[in-house]
Amino acid sequence: MSLMTAEEFKKSLQKMKVNAYWDGKKVETLSAHPVTRSVVEATAKLYELAADPQQEGVMTATSHLTGEKINRNLHVNRSTGDLERRADMALLTSQTLGTCNYRCVGCDALNALASVTVEMDRVKGTEYSRRLNAFLQRTQEKDLAVSGAVTDAKGDRAKRILEGDPDMYVHIVERRSDGIVVRGAKMHQSGAFCAHETLVIPGGALRKGEEDYAVAFAVPNSAKGITYVLQYNALSAEREKAEDIFYLGNPRFGQRETCLMVFDDVFIPAENVFMRGEVDFAGALIQRFAKTHRMNCGGACKVGFADIIIGAAQLAAEYAGTEKAPHVREAITHMVRISEASHACAIAAAVKGKEEPPGSGVFMPDDLFGNVAKISTAHGFWQIMALAGDIAGGLVVTMPSFQELKNPATKGYVEKYLKAAVPAEKRMRITKVLQNWTAGLHGPGTWHGAGSTQAQMISLHRVANLEAKKRIAKRIAGIED
Ligand SMILES: Cc1cc2nc3c(=O)[nH]c(=O)nc-3n(C[C@H](O)[C@H](O)[C@H](O)COP(=O)(O)OP(=O)(O)OC[C@H]3O[C@@H](n4cnc5c(N)ncnc54)[C@H](O)[C@@H]3O)c2cc1C
Repeated sequence: MSLMTAEEFKKSLQKMKVNAYWDGKKVETLSAHPVTRSVVEATAKLYELAADPQQEGVMTATSHLTGEKINRNLHVNRSTGDLERRADMALLTSQTLGTCNYRCVGCDALNALASVTVEMDRVKGTEYSRRLNAFLQRTQEKDLAVSGAVTDAKGDRAKRILEGDPDMYVHIVERRSDGIVVRGAKMHQSGAFCAHETLVIPGGALRKGEEDYAVAFAVPNSAKGITYVLQYNALSAEREKAEDIFYLGNPRFGQRETCLMVFDDVFIPAENVFMRGEVDFAGALIQRFAKTHRMNCGGACKVGFADIIIGAAQLAAEYAGTEKAPHVREAITHMVRISEASHACAIAAAVKGKEEPPGSGVFMPDDLFGNVAKISTAHGFWQIMALAGDIAGGLVVTMPSFQELKNPATKGYVEKYLKAAVPAEKRMRITKVLQNWTAGLHGPGTWHGAGSTQAQMISLHRVANLEAKKRIAKRIAGIED
């Protein structure tokens, strides 16, 4: 067993044939396409980080199944220390990539399944835990990239699952002795087309009668019947057209690339099925996924992104000669305050984590702090981007193309009028980075990633322990019931 290198990862993708479409055209080679290449590069960088002795403690762990060194993205958290390192990994990968750790959702789905399969086996006498561990050992030994699929297409939100088009939620359409056949689609799948496998879990709690939808499984991403329809936006077009990606806002690793992942009657062998009809456990599964993912996504991943924005805003101020102005210093300080408050919540969620269920050996973060981390980030990230936009000035959206620096008719003007305390090109480079964040996709991306805030508000209200707070208030008021 050994960790995969970045080069081995790239080679492994060449062998994997995925049915992926971008802007109405089939993607023939993931590493050659201008947009999918950024996902390949970002994931390859994750493998590179794991091989870096300086990052070993964060990016790798010891497998509880084999005792071997494994990538932390395939690790089941066995202690609060593991939870802390998991959050550290989210921070480090965001700081390094400025885009998704495309193995992140898979890691959190894996942890939720590790916890819930133990419970299902205890109550139902199933053997899901053994199957999951077999899958885990196989992926650990090969160091595979596993993405996570949770969010169903859902369709008309006013309708319950059984009232609308049945395919709006991934479900079982055929039960066979050797496995199941599934149909439906998962939306907004981060980088799935560039991962080896995907872990699929239900997107919400389920009721009796909805057994076909209580399904969790692992599937190779090149499996027959899976189609990927990739996202497309102005930044996709900019990257496709770019003659020199050096001038893009995040040249090598790009945007957070997602896709619609369609399951058109995909066969899943029984050995890879980890939930098959247990509606009474779907709620626990999504809830445990959510609290793990919210700690990482809200209180660590977006903190890493904020570090990039804060650093770029400080540089923009220095390049423009405004860094000593009291309101600029205050804006930068507010950005740090907002970001680190979320970070503190992630650390608290990890430190206050618990074994769940008791005796399983699986550790889950604290629900209250995980939810606060995500809600605070969802609101705070807009503020951070607004403050960065203020510091960067109008140039952040009015800047001309870098091609003008090569155009004899305009080069002199751009160099003369866009220079400030530094030459024009340097100023334009950092402004382009800020444009990528403040005028890019990251506002809604941060808001909805790991669930829209209403979902967290509901969870937070549930775990807030209002009864205890009422008792405290009554004691102060001298009220005795
Ligand atoms: C950049 C990015 C990357 C992502 N990566 C992944 C990934 O890798 N894997 C994955 O599984 N998911 C991923 N997601 C999906 C993410 O978890 C969802 O976007 C999020 O859960 C919200 O779901 P939705 O987008 O369907 O929005 P909606 O559910 O349509 O929510 C939109 C609004 O409608 C409200 N709403 C929704 N349903 C109801 C209802 N029944 N009643 C009242 N109000 C309702 C919501 O509260 C919200 O205000 C990603 C999302 C983004 C933006």
